[in-house]
Amino acid sequence: MADPTPEPQSASAIRLYTPRAPVYDSSHHPSFTARFISHISPHLSPGLKILDLACGTGLLTYQLAAAVGPSGRVVGVDVTPGMLAVAREKLAADKEKYPQVELFEHDVLDLDGIKELAGMKGGFDGITGASMFVLFQDPVAALGHWVRYLKPGGFVALDVTHPQNLAYSGTVEKTARRLGAFTLYHRMWVKGPKSLEEVMRKCGVEVQEMVVVENQCGQGDKKYKVEEADKLFEEGIDKEICKGFRESEEVRAEAKRVFKEEWEKQAVDGWVEEVDTVFLGIGKKVEETKPDSKALLTHSEIAFSGGCRCGSITYTSTTAPTAACCCYCAACRQLSGSGFIPWAQIPTSALIITTHPPESSSSQVPITLQTLNLHKAAERRFCNACGTPLFMVYKADPEETSVSMGSIDEASLRCKLPEIGSHIFLKEKANWVVLPNDWALHCEEFTGRSAEEVLGKSD
Ligand SMILES: [Zn+2]
Ligand SMILES: [Zn+2]
Repeated sequence: MADPTPEPQSASAIRLYTPRAPVYDSSHHPSFTARFISHISPHLSPGLKILDLACGTGLLTYQLAAAVGPSGRVVGVDVTPGMLAVAREKLAADKEKYPQVELFEHDVLDLDGIKELAGMKGGFDGITGASMFVLFQDPVAALGHWVRYLKPGGFVALDVTHPQNLAYSGTVEKTARRLGAFTLYHRMWVKGPKSLEEVMRKCGVEVQEMVVVENQCGQGDKKYKVEEADKLFEEGIDKEICKGFRESEEVRAEAKRVFKEEWEKQAVDGWVEEVDTVFLGIGKKVEETKPDSKALLTHSEIAFSGGCRCGSITYTSTTAPTAACCCYCAACRQLSGSGFIPWAQIPTSALIITTHPPESSSSQVPITLQTLNLHKAAERRFCNACGTPLFMVYKADPEETSVSMGSIDEASLRCKLPEIGSHIFLKEKANWVVLPNDWALHCEEFTGRSAEEVLGKSD
């Protein structure tokens, strides 16, 4: 039943939005975009360069254009030809008014593929996306990609749905996830405004304002009877979002059963409540990340690369490690399930980390580098999907990152890895790890002291 070749997001978007294109501007979307723009207006001024992602029929694009004026630049990107055709009609009708607007038919997850944007990494003052962020399987990977095109200090504005928004399609998504079937929406990671804040933070965007937009569709909150499950399932089975349930009679029957179960789970006193609310997050790209310069790396500038076991997190380094050590502290021992972790030290500025979308669409949490503080003075980072320990940074020296040497891809090496120069925290070494005598000579720094004594106990 699992979807063996998940459809790319862009293909799903085209299927979903092509029939909607002619009627999109007659829906609730114009009124929502008007509210969207009013919330971001403090960030808009003449001359700014704005990237409007999944711009669709240009509802937001032209309002942005009016705000930045003819000296600004507004780039709209959308993958659905039908939607963009409507946007282009508006442009053709008012060409003189909008010299600052450019429209590209392209996958928003592949901005690098738009040659007109080649010089724009780190170049936009703002990135907007209205009613689109719940279409991406991996929100962190998507936003992480977009943020590369943003100036430090530039703003991002994106909205996501309330967990109880669109009760029917939310139940369809839950059902699809349980069956391992196709799902068009990826809304389940949103548990509340904090979820969006977290995703933005992980992408180097500090949230400045989280607007709760009520009555988004104009229908207000609604209630459905819990007994309506079968009726709703049958009424909706031909919809695009239910594509995965039509595979066979068995799949359909199983989907109906699971749908009903998920529907009933949400019921309170016999009613399923639908909340017509979205959360609009507005944030600023933090200054210290400099993905613009790093993102333009050519292959020959990469000294080595590596990643976690599941492939969700990969990294490259532009320089060879300056040193390497083996750490025998209890934390390294337990995290690795081994005797020690060998660490290679590189300048933090040389490290580029990439988060990839998960292989399976069943992942309900964004794949990320999770941070772990086991000692006061050190921060560890690992893949939250497979648990591979990847990096460690001493808080007193954030300029240097230790990379777990086991995660380095030997085949990628364009440099020589240094020999292990020291063995640290031998006081905590497991007895079954037997070191040659001369190794102990390298450990004078922490002789006799535990990691906790040196690095402090975590809270
Ligand atoms: Zn992993
Ligand atoms: Zn250690």
